[in-house]
Amino acid sequence: MDYKDLANLIFPNVKDISYYEEKYPERDLPEGAIVTRFAPSPTGFVHIGGLYQALVAIEVSKKTKGVFFLRVEDTDQKREVENGVTDIVNSLKDFGMAPDEGMISDTEEIGNYGPYKQSLRKDIYQAYAKYLISQGKAYPCFCTPEEGEEIRKKQEAAKIRPGYYGIWAKCRNITVEEAAEKIKNGEHYIIRFKSPGREDRKIKHKDIIKGNVDFPENDLDIVIIKADGLPTYHFAHAVDDHLMRTTHVIRSDEWLSSVPLHLQLFHELGFKTPKYAHISPIMKNDNGNKRKLSKRKDPEAAVSYYKEQGIPVNAVKEYLLNIANSTFENWRRANPDKPMEEFDFQLNKMSVSGALFDMVKLLDIGKTVISKMSAEEVYENSLEWAKQFDNELADMLKDKEYALKVLGIERGNKKPRKDIAKWSDVKENIEYMYDEIFYNKKQEYPYQVISDKESIEKILTLYMEKYYDENDDKQTWFDKIKALTGEMGYATEVKEFKANPGKYTAHVGDVSTVIRVALTSRTNTPDMYEIMQVLGKSCVEKRLKKAIENLK
Ligand code: GLU
Repeated sequence: MDYKDLANLIFPNVKDISYYEEKYPERDLPEGAIVTRFAPSPTGFVHIGGLYQALVAIEVSKKTKGVFFLRVEDTDQKREVENGVTDIVNSLKDFGMAPDEGMISDTEEIGNYGPYKQSLRKDIYQAYAKYLISQGKAYPCFCTPEEGEEIRKKQEAAKIRPGYYGIWAKCRNITVEEAAEKIKNGEHYIIRFKSPGREDRKIKHKDIIKGNVDFPENDLDIVIIKADGLPTYHFAHAVDDHLMRTTHVIRSDEWLSSVPLHLQLFHELGFKTPKYAHISPIMKNDNGNKRKLSKRKDPEAAVSYYKEQGIPVNAVKEYLLNIANSTFENWRRANPDKPMEEFDFQLNKMSVSGALFDMVKLLDIGKTVISKMSAEEVYENSLEWAKQFDNELADMLKDKEYALKVLGIERGNKKPRKDIAKWSDVKENIEYMYDEIFYNKKQEYPYQVISDKESIEKILTLYMEKYYDENDDKQTWFDKIKALTGEMGYATEVKEFKANPGKYTAHVGDVSTVIRVALTSRTNTPDMYEIMQVLGKSCVEKRLKKAIENLK
């Protein structure tokens, strides 16, 4: 009996690997095209770090006219959660990051290199495991979990490296006959890789992001096929990324230390090794300490958070590019209007240590992104968000014509308004433009510099009776506020006010504030002329009268 016989005994019904090698040929792509993937496990919510990895993968594949595919790694079925795959697929879709190939729903996929869900690839893994056994490079291991535990305890007591290796790898040297005997007797087993490595030797690896790294060789006889017949991550990675013709493995740096093992697996399987790029995690500043963004502690770790908050998709993507390549910020400054896709993303310029997540910066990008949108775009996005998350806002937006006017205030000009960072800001930003809400809210008037009731009443009355004319153009409108300022005895120019301390009690800006507060209950709003145009004459007059009344 030889290794081949043992392999046939263990996997009698699987195909020869030549079948798969032919079925999944080298891809016919232009020189330099990068084939890469996002390979999450459906074990819970999609983490922003996952989206970050996927975005990086998409950037490099698109730039090189390559392929980006989505593979679902569901071999740890105990950890799988309901809707796990759907959540992953939808998150990518929400961010306009749908893959070229791979899973497109829980059950459907596109592309010629599938199945793209690992649990459907059992036969393939077993074919390659069989191949390794037939070469004497893998073997059945009959150790029970209790025996495994015993080994671990002994190693711990002796203070030596834990794991199944060297003299501890009890089943490594079982003869083929003995193994066959045990199998025929119905003993349970798993399949282990017979590592050719030695811990006292080093390997050198050049990672695209981390640069040159040295590791001891792997000497662990790791499990490749588990008791349930499914592969471990390590084995599935080698088989899948080979057969799917991945050129670049872009993944989290938690896997960096597994590179020696992975290189060995590729080598023993006779596969060409892919290039590796290990991405550092996104970090968070927690009271001066840098730590990973945590699923448990940080709501912003979940991709769903951005959707719920209504942070624009492009803001999130731009922000992620920002932390991926520090050169992005300068590029954006020099090219404020170019689509971010034109940025020349460089995988090898990613930070070696983790980038810090900065919500303030993200929201700032949100403001810029939204400031560049047309009223129509802001309307559509807000409405879509509101339908899902805020009925009140959805109601406000029902009158589309009016909403477009409101959202169009200070938009589409050279210096557009920048006060909306996310769709959940819209309501707060525009609600005073709606009478139903304006009059329903308690009107508190923080009148600021001019705060005595008499002056306020005089300003508002004069303005309404003498100066306000709905048909004025912006210059005339402003000249009239100046005239009113003069009539009140305040400085009509801020410059003049500053040059003559003590001479005036207020200036034209303070008069504007009085009118602004009366009309909106706020001290800070976009352009007041535009606001008044949108509100219209009867609404403006009603609000001014009400403000005067409220003074009494
Ligand atoms: N399923 C692995 C994970 O979620 C994927 C690692 C990889 O991209 O190869 O960590």
